[in-house]
Amino acid sequence: MWQREPMTPERRPSPGDHAHADLRPATRAVALGRPDRAPGAPVNTPVHLTSTYVADGQVNYARVSNPTWEALEEVLGSLEAGMASAFASGMAAVAAVVGQVPTGGVVVRPTHVYSGTAGLLAERERAGALSVRTVAAEDVAGIVEACDGADLLLLESPSNPMMELTDVVAVVRGLRERYGPDRPLVVCDNTFATPVAQQPLRWGVDAVVHSATKYLAGHSDTLLGAVVVSPERPDLQERVRTYRTLHGAIPGPMEAWLVLRGVRTLHVRLERASATAELLVDRLEEHPAVERVRYPGFGAMVSVEVVGGAEAAEAVCSAVRVWTHSTSLGGVESQLERRRRHAAEVASVPESLLRLSVGVEDPEDLWEDLARALG
Ligand SMILES: *Cc1c(COP(=O)(O)O)cnc(C)c1O
Repeated sequence: MWQREPMTPERRPSPGDHAHADLRPATRAVALGRPDRAPGAPVNTPVHLTSTYVADGQVNYARVSNPTWEALEEVLGSLEAGMASAFASGMAAVAAVVGQVPTGGVVVRPTHVYSGTAGLLAERERAGALSVRTVAAEDVAGIVEACDGADLLLLESPSNPMMELTDVVAVVRGLRERYGPDRPLVVCDNTFATPVAQQPLRWGVDAVVHSATKYLAGHSDTLLGAVVVSPERPDLQERVRTYRTLHGAIPGPMEAWLVLRGVRTLHVRLERASATAELLVDRLEEHPAVERVRYPGFGAMVSVEVVGGAEAAEAVCSAVRVWTHSTSLGGVESQLERRRRHAAEVASVPESLLRLSVGVEDPEDLWEDLARALG
C-alpha cells in the first residue's frame, strides 16, 4: 500500500526546503506533488473524492484539506517560493486577501486591475466595509503616498488589460522606508506573468494571488484560484487558511487535479506562446489597422488598440476563425475579446482595445487569421 502522508505544518515544506529545491523550476513543475516512489505506487496523485477522514489523523474534514489540493499546493508553493493555498476560483483567492482588511480599512489599487477585483472592492465599499483609493500603476511615489494609513495594497503587474507594469521592488522599498512596520499588506496578482516570468514574493510582497483558471490550468476547462504567502508571514498563512475553511471557498478535488495536470506543462506552453506573442507583436506594430500595441516585453498577453474604435474592434472579433472570440485567457487556444464590451470593465480602458491571449497553435496560422480579420 502506498500512502500520501497528510501535510502537517511540520511536514509542509517552506521555500528553502522544498523537496527538489536543488532542481530548476520547469523540473519542479513536473516532479513535485506526486506520491512517494514506493514500488507499485501510482505515479500521479489521485483525485481524492472524500468529504471526511478516519478520526485521529491530521485532518478531520475535507473543507479543511484534501490530499489532491496538497499536491497542487506543493507545486505552486515551490514555483512561487511561498506557501500556497488552493481556492475555488481566482476571485475566491482575491476575496480571501480582501477579507484580511479590518472593517473600515483602506485598500489601495492601481487604476487598471482585473474587472472582478475592481468590482469586489467597489461592492465592499458600497457595503461600508472598506474604502478604496486608486493610483496609477506606474507611479511608484504616488503608490507609496496613497498607502498612508492603508491596510492593503493590491497590485497587478502586468495589469489586465492595459499591460502596465509596476516597479514592485521600488514600491516595497518605498513602503518600508516611509511606514516601517505600519506599512500595508502588499499583495500581487501574478495571473498574467505566472511564476515562470516573475516571483513577486522574492521582491518582498506578502502574498501572491492567482487565477489558476488561466495559465496554471492552461486548457480553459476549470476554475481555481490560489493565494501564495511569503515564508516570512506564517501568521498571514494561518489567517488565509482559516478564511478558506470558514468561508467554504474551497476547490473541488477534480479541479485541483486538472490544475495539477496543467501546471506540468506550464513552462513549455509559455515558452511557445511567448515566442509567438513576440512575433505577433513585431508584425502588429507594422499593421496599418493597429493604432497601438501594448506588450510588456514578456509573456503571452498582448493588447492592441485598432483603428476605427469599438465597431472596428468588434468586426475583428467576428472575423477570426482560428482565434476564439471569448473572455478569459491563458489556454492552449488563442483567444481575443474587446474588453469594453463588458459593462464592468474600467471606463478608462479604450473602446478599441482588443485583449489577445496567445495560445500554442502554429504562429503562422495565428498571424494569417489575425491579419485577415484586421483587414
Ligand atoms: C481571471 C482573473 C481573476 C479572477 O479569476 P477567476 O478564476 O475567474 O475567479 C483575477 N485576476 C486576474 C488578473 C484575472 O485575469
